[in-house]
Amino acid sequence: MIRSNFLSHLAGYVNDQWIAADTGKRLDVFNPATGEKLADVPFMGAAETRRAIACAQRALDSVPDAATRRHWLESIRDKLLEQQEEIGRILCLEHGKPWKEAQGEVQYAASFFDYYAKVVETGTAPETLPDKVKGCTWTLYKRPVGVVGLITPWNFPIAMIAKKIAPALAAGCPSVIKPAPDTPLTMIALFEIMASLGLPKGMVNLVIGDAVQIGAELMNSPQVTMVSFTGSTATGRLLMQQATRQVKRLGLELGGNAPFIVLDDADLDAAADGLMNNKFRGAGQTCVCANRVYVQKNVYDAFAQKVVERVGKLKVGDGMKEGTDIGPLINANGFAKVKGHLADALDNGATLLLGKQPDTLDAASSLLFPPTVVGNVDDTMRCCQEETFGPLIPLISFDGDDEVVRRANDTEFGLAAYVFGKDRARSQRIIARLHFGHCAYNTGTGPAAIAPFGGMLSSGIGREGGKEGLLEYLEIQTVPDGSQ
Ligand code: ADP
Repeated sequence: MIRSNFLSHLAGYVNDQWIAADTGKRLDVFNPATGEKLADVPFMGAAETRRAIACAQRALDSVPDAATRRHWLESIRDKLLEQQEEIGRILCLEHGKPWKEAQGEVQYAASFFDYYAKVVETGTAPETLPDKVKGCTWTLYKRPVGVVGLITPWNFPIAMIAKKIAPALAAGCPSVIKPAPDTPLTMIALFEIMASLGLPKGMVNLVIGDAVQIGAELMNSPQVTMVSFTGSTATGRLLMQQATRQVKRLGLELGGNAPFIVLDDADLDAAADGLMNNKFRGAGQTCVCANRVYVQKNVYDAFAQKVVERVGKLKVGDGMKEGTDIGPLINANGFAKVKGHLADALDNGATLLLGKQPDTLDAASSLLFPPTVVGNVDDTMRCCQEETFGPLIPLISFDGDDEVVRRANDTEFGLAAYVFGKDRARSQRIIARLHFGHCAYNTGTGPAAIAPFGGMLSSGIGREGGKEGLLEYLEIQTVPDGSQ
């Protein structure tokens, strides 16, 4: 069992109170590295969610000014940074990612509180337009959108909520938050921090439990004027259907199928290093990590060798153990998907360059999946058609620039893409034709708090991070004033 000062309440949080589920039901949380039970948390449903929404609605009546909200954001940032080791430990234990990487995620989460603290006052200030027309001055007020529902996945237990709650607090929106069932403990730790700040009652609420019931309450309640969701495209589609009744505002960060393109003029070592940094974060369980690695034919063998050399050095293990580079996959379903993609690729003619044969891999004995590289992959294989969400690198060869643009774009998803090449003009021509919201050049980096991030096509709606991420939580109210 886990012990931490941040987990003295294994509970939900509604109206400034730590609460259990009405039914008394609890949900077990496990360490994916060991299978050990870490804790149990309440398993709530519709009734608790309704109460949380009602409290959040009351909080909307007395939202403090922007300076006070800046102070909240700064306090959360400071506390996260001060306690990154302990919060990182909780995160590592319930998610599996190495402790150091988990601390990096806590710092990354803190950067969103930091960024929105810096822009809250300017970003929410009214703006009077320079032109006087129709005999009026025109002022744009930035009002909080209202009560927001925030639904997060397990793959970044603190970063995903930071991207939502930081701009929500900056905008002055009370929230009802639902974490993923695999990783509720890091969220409880964040609530422990927020509960110590003296926020108005009902400003932040935590409901853990039945996704369908909680989701339906959030979507059906007229008091919830926006829902921001990060997770699978299937669930995102369902939320879109549910949003139609009220024309509810949605922010959706959904799946990806990221192409990673290595052109023949690329610095191959830099590209291989970029791929390593990009692909194995969270054991490959991120929506921005390279899913399809396209390498130009004349550098394919040289690049494959560099990748295999690097991947061969990675150590898979318990994230709390010194020296672990990659932790376990989150659960048996995740494991089965990666294994299925590997088996499908090998059955259809791909070559195993590094890793183990799929029939030797068994989730029942361990969720540790060996980092794997397969060559001679083609676009019809499952690992190119679907998001693998695991430590599997498929190498695909291509001939020309037009061809790689066409193949990279041949997906319904449009979240992240990567291009490596020395000739800037050539690479920029390729980037301009790729339909991905995040298109990194000569780097494998993912998003940053200062810049908007989001998907095109089936990868979602809206942006997180940057000034655009704050606008998602604001309604512009236009006031023409005829008296001035
Ligand atoms: P993943 O494959 O990453 O688990 P999901 O879309 O299933 O993706 O989960 C992301 C988040 O959405 C989790 O918090 C999950 O509990 C929640 N969720 C799942 N189904 C629903 C639903 N019907 N309504 C609202 N939230 C849901």
